[in-house]
Amino acid sequence: MLVIDIPESALTVKADYAERPDLAVVAEIKAHIKETGAPHLWPGHTHTKPPRGAVVRYLGEFDLPSSHAGQRNRERWAPCPCCKPNTPWYYKDGRIAWFPEERVIRNMGGDCFKSINATGHAEAERLFREEEAQRRNEAYLLRCLPQVPEALAAIDQNAPTIADIDRVRFILSDRMTRTIGFDLWEHLRSDGVLRYEVTRNERRVDRSGNENMVTVHDFERYGPLVGYEMLKPNVTPIAERIERLASRLRALNFGENSSDAVTRMDGLERTRAAKNVGTMPDINELISEAEGVRQMLSPLSLGSLNGWSRTPGARAEIHLSLSDDRTQLFLGNTKENARSVKIGTVFFNSLRRMPAIGKLSRQAE
Ligand SMILES: [Zn+2]
Repeated sequence: MLVIDIPESALTVKADYAERPDLAVVAEIKAHIKETGAPHLWPGHTHTKPPRGAVVRYLGEFDLPSSHAGQRNRERWAPCPCCKPNTPWYYKDGRIAWFPEERVIRNMGGDCFKSINATGHAEAERLFREEEAQRRNEAYLLRCLPQVPEALAAIDQNAPTIADIDRVRFILSDRMTRTIGFDLWEHLRSDGVLRYEVTRNERRVDRSGNENMVTVHDFERYGPLVGYEMLKPNVTPIAERIERLASRLRALNFGENSSDAVTRMDGLERTRAAKNVGTMPDINELISEAEGVRQMLSPLSLGSLNGWSRTPGARAEIHLSLSDDRTQLFLGNTKENARSVKIGTVFFNSLRRMPAIGKLSRQAE
């Protein structure tokens, strides 16, 4: 077996860490390992065996870089101060371990300390997992919460337009069937395609071999009606669904001071807040719904609907048009009997998109 030559500098006890080393030290150690693949050669590492029953705190975990990983790189694995100080012993799940009584740091194998102090190892492992979760929650909140004020501002700015789209949707979905005497929603709901009926004569041969002409009724596609969801009845208003999310966001709104707020939270509060943010649906989907249904009043859709209704075989007569200034919508069987529906001046305003707060990556940095 290969014997690793351990330099004197590694064996020297460096009792420099009376206080718990901070994240900067952990980051420095990780960078060293990534670059060299030699955790035992980090200058602050003490390559001696920890005393029996020693208290340990794990500050971080690491793997050796891929150049040192796996069976084929066995000779490049790291030695462990606990159990195999002079031979290659591990390449993954290493621990950056702080020993407060000796005031030293040892980079060592993940499970090695178990044989020296099983209870102490389990306790350190449990604390480490908790701290890691806390750090992830904190980093996540620090990334997400600064977006909350902007999202709330966008919600406020969009509100009048959303409310008007909801209002027009309510009127059209309620009035359409009665006005044209045909359930257009039922016609469209499966795929949003307008169809018209055709009849054609087809030659059929019966069992006796006689040819007959039969009349076949069929439907042909006229074309899609973009925005047909405008006609869906009994929809919970989009504004109401946005408001549910907004009230959740308001509870997480710390304005410019979100980092202070995160600092002040205790562990449980951070866990709750991170969970609340992480399960927040994307409000942009509701904005997309509003923009989608509004398409029904686009020139394209109005043209499709009116054109379809004039096609022989279409099931309904409909006239739907906008006044030139787009403040009135006329709905009827025909142009002559069409009644006007008021369209708000904000109806066609562009809607502001907002950051998808909960969808920011949960990856630890
Ligand atoms: Zn070991």
